[in-house]
Amino acid sequence: MIAPGSALQEDIVTADLTTLAGIEAPTGLLIGGQWSTGRAGTLPVINPATEDALTEVADASPEDAIDAVGAAAQALPAWAATPPRERGEILRRAFELMKQRSEQIARLMVLENGKALKDARSEALYSAEFFRWYAEEAVRIDGSLTIAPSGANRIMAIRQPVGVSVLITPWNFPAAMATRKIGPALAAGCTVILKPAKETPLTALAVASILAEAGVPDGVVNVLTTNKAGPLTQAMLADPRVRKLSFTGSTEVGRLLLKQAAETVTNCSMELGGNAPFLVFDDADLDAAVDGAMVAKMRNGGEACTAANRFYVHERVADEFAAKLTARMAALRVGPGLDDGTDLGPLVNSDTRSKVASLVETATQDGAAVLTGGHAPDRLGYFYQPTVLDRVPAGAGILAEEIFGPVAPIVRFASQDEAITLANDTEYGLVSYLYSQDLRRCLQVAEALEAGMIGVNRGVVSDPAAPFGGVKQSGLGREGAHEGLVEFTETKYIAVDW
Ligand code: NAD
Repeated sequence: MIAPGSALQEDIVTADLTTLAGIEAPTGLLIGGQWSTGRAGTLPVINPATEDALTEVADASPEDAIDAVGAAAQALPAWAATPPRERGEILRRAFELMKQRSEQIARLMVLENGKALKDARSEALYSAEFFRWYAEEAVRIDGSLTIAPSGANRIMAIRQPVGVSVLITPWNFPAAMATRKIGPALAAGCTVILKPAKETPLTALAVASILAEAGVPDGVVNVLTTNKAGPLTQAMLADPRVRKLSFTGSTEVGRLLLKQAAETVTNCSMELGGNAPFLVFDDADLDAAVDGAMVAKMRNGGEACTAANRFYVHERVADEFAAKLTARMAALRVGPGLDDGTDLGPLVNSDTRSKVASLVETATQDGAAVLTGGHAPDRLGYFYQPTVLDRVPAGAGILAEEIFGPVAPIVRFASQDEAITLANDTEYGLVSYLYSQDLRRCLQVAEALEAGMIGVNRGVVSDPAAPFGGVKQSGLGREGAHEGLVEFTETKYIAVDW
């Protein structure tokens, strides 16, 4: 393994990365343990708070991708045969290193993603936890042995690594979405090719260099940064050596990749978009509901698949809830993520901001009332004001689409049945939140909501020890928990007659 910043990558390093965030983030491709240039040149990494380029990273071509598949395939037999304890100990060292460097990783994420430093700090620690969790799970790959009903033989089932895995991650949680996939893949004995989003390549490369330092052998983790995700991924999915695709991103791209993976019948795990409802019943503790709403809506500035997208509030408490939420949203300090006291940084890019602005504009034209915000501030950077919309009409576009920004639309309901019907009226099913002090109601409603995860009197559900994932068009499979490890294994059944 070549150390980041060494002579081999000098030709592609265009900025002193140590001045970026106090971390030596490499800017090359990582293929077979070598840092290299991309055959397609370089691509710029933009700081969303200033709209300036921070640096450039290598731009991989489909040929680079096939090289990475070759490196991962070559490294697979030895890694799969490495004792689980040893794989776990390497992941444990990666956890320790991630924790030690969490401040630098957090600052790097702020620079390329825009999020506020406090969000980035919490993500840096959360992402490290996936390495700790899967360091512990590596030694818990189980199987089973049963007697066939006929009594004639034994049914033995073992789990084996699924094989070379392509991991595709979004820009919104650049560290956590990578470690949530790399951790279980490596624990299971798979080798990987990570393709991060073009907006946030530096964090992925920094994580890869930490894994190398922790002792991951050459070729086990490969990283391709690219401006041409489509052709590069298509080339990898057409290669029969690739046996797994683990994707986190939009439902639209997920559908496309499922079609491509069908050609080679490649095993897929899909963590896709969300449209989370947040239900507040008239028996809820309203202050707790507002605290939860602030987390569910504003964690990561609203750029989260788990972000509360639609607030359904009982008509008896809606005025009070709206007033309290508005006061909290209006008090948020908007600014560059690295500035002291910033609560909300910029959105990741100009397209994201335009989408948020257009959803708000249409909702207000349709009759929604703006309680605070409702516009982008007049300054450089992709900022948008924290916004609360009240009396949003049913059928408004903002209730059907992922907002992915700091906007809270409120809709009033009159009965529990109506709330459940409204909440389930979406193609998505990632997470739902509900607030009520009646435990019976909480559990009844939780069972009726069509979502893979439910936050009951709680505005956050993410936890490395919990099975994260969606139903309906929010995804297939689970990440985190033991389930996350199983996704990177195949079951082999051995019929034994002894
Ligand atoms: P996106 O779908 O545009 O991109 C995700 C990844 O796919 C990126 O790496 C991108 O480069 C790549 N990609 C884009 N087009 C591709 C193509 N044609 N072929 C192959 N790869 C392609 O999503 P995004 O804007 O980066 O992220 C936001 C989305 O991710 C939201 O919908 C959000 O809900 C979702 N998300 C889901 C989860 C989850 O766990 N369910 C977590 C985080 C984000």
